[in-house]
Amino acid sequence: MADTTLMDKLVSLCKRRGFVFQSSEIYGGLGSVWDYGPLGVALKKNVKDRWWNAMVQGRDDIEGLDAAILMHPKVWEASGHVAGFTDPLVDCRQCKNRFRADDPRIKGTPGQPDAQCPVCGTRGSLTEARLFNLMFKTFMGPVEESAAVVYLRPETAQGIYVNYLNVLQSSRQRVPFGIAQIGKAFRNEITPGNFIFRTREFEQMEMQFFVQPGTDPEWFERWRGWRMEWHRSLGLDPAKLQWHQHTGSELAHYARAAFDIQYQFPFGWQEIEGIHNRGDFDLGRHQEYSGKKLEYFDQAQNQRYLPFIVETSAGADRVTLTLLVDAYREEQVEGETRVVLGLLPSLAPIKAGVFPLVKKDGMPEVATTLYHDLRKQFACFYDESGAIGRRYRRMDEAGTPFGITVDGETLSAGTVTVRHRDTMQQERVGMDRVGEYVKERL
Ligand code: ATP
Repeated sequence: MADTTLMDKLVSLCKRRGFVFQSSEIYGGLGSVWDYGPLGVALKKNVKDRWWNAMVQGRDDIEGLDAAILMHPKVWEASGHVAGFTDPLVDCRQCKNRFRADDPRIKGTPGQPDAQCPVCGTRGSLTEARLFNLMFKTFMGPVEESAAVVYLRPETAQGIYVNYLNVLQSSRQRVPFGIAQIGKAFRNEITPGNFIFRTREFEQMEMQFFVQPGTDPEWFERWRGWRMEWHRSLGLDPAKLQWHQHTGSELAHYARAAFDIQYQFPFGWQEIEGIHNRGDFDLGRHQEYSGKKLEYFDQAQNQRYLPFIVETSAGADRVTLTLLVDAYREEQVEGETRVVLGLLPSLAPIKAGVFPLVKKDGMPEVATTLYHDLRKQFACFYDESGAIGRRYRRMDEAGTPFGITVDGETLSAGTVTVRHRDTMQQERVGMDRVGEYVKERL
């Protein structure tokens, strides 16, 4: 399967089955903004729950936080986002499109008469490159004036830094400890998309781990190991995961070390999570800009210091896309193409489809009762319309690992057919046991 067609097929499956829709589609859509439909919201929630379980629930040394999207504007001066969160851009005066200055499709030097717009093809219409801040601005209060400017946060991390002492004191944690948060972030990204890979509104799953200076390299290595392990535990093809180390100019000014976890998408190896050793840059800057002491008093060592920070920063949407891409496959079955999302059962949005074989002989009644019972235990879907084969195929596309069918034998022998998504094999299981049977396999 050619790689571009794979993305096209995935986008169309996502719409058809209700994973992801274009934002404001009836108005022609909004650039690089997407909405999650019934299956998408369930899949992304499973990703976030799994992250939260691994990072917060399953550990004694990490606390959760949900900081507001809007923050004091000085936060973004201290963080460096007001001054530095910029990309050089060029505009086309003719067609009004905007491009990154380094867009490989641009021929010639922007600002010069020979430069050609990659969209409308006009020569000499491209402006010189100008710096453009990626933060979305809005106004707080009734007056739209510069003093009232606030930003939609471009990352969740700053909410953690400015709350670090609050969390430390209220939770009675001691360094080393971490704070984790899942939340929306906004960036006025220029390079469009690849579906939900790069969007203007997205969700981050970030954790900042506060450590004693000097112990940061070992903590950094530990976190690298744990985070790669987590991505593998999602069932991703291990051959499609790799490390990318930031060196030279790629390394942000605040970072002492940075590695990305990359996945091999159809459009190339791309970052899904960054692990950064940020030293004391962030707390140092917030201490300077706020005038408040942010030092930690280490009782055991009887010394004060600004903790160093090891950050793990993943995108919930990117991880969701990674799962979809990794799970998508097509098979030829009896001359027909079967599309399957081979998601791990624990991540699948729907765990079981419940079907009456036919819409008569009391089967719908029995199947409905079973469905109502099972959905108390895990996410189920009831479907009685169309041939049973077609109903199985719809569930294959949704990534549903089990199909449970009520048939003639159910009525006589009290058993149902359980059909497995991956092998298409069927077996008979007692109707009273089928809930347990599915749960054991999640
Ligand atoms: P990129 O180089 O891809 O723009 P970045 O290095 O700016 O990413 P970070 O600031 O380190 O990314 O953000 C951490 C994580 O947040 C990324 O690994 C990614 O999963 C997610 N992320 C960042 N920007 C976006 C976006 N525009 N859309 C979706 N997810 C994003």
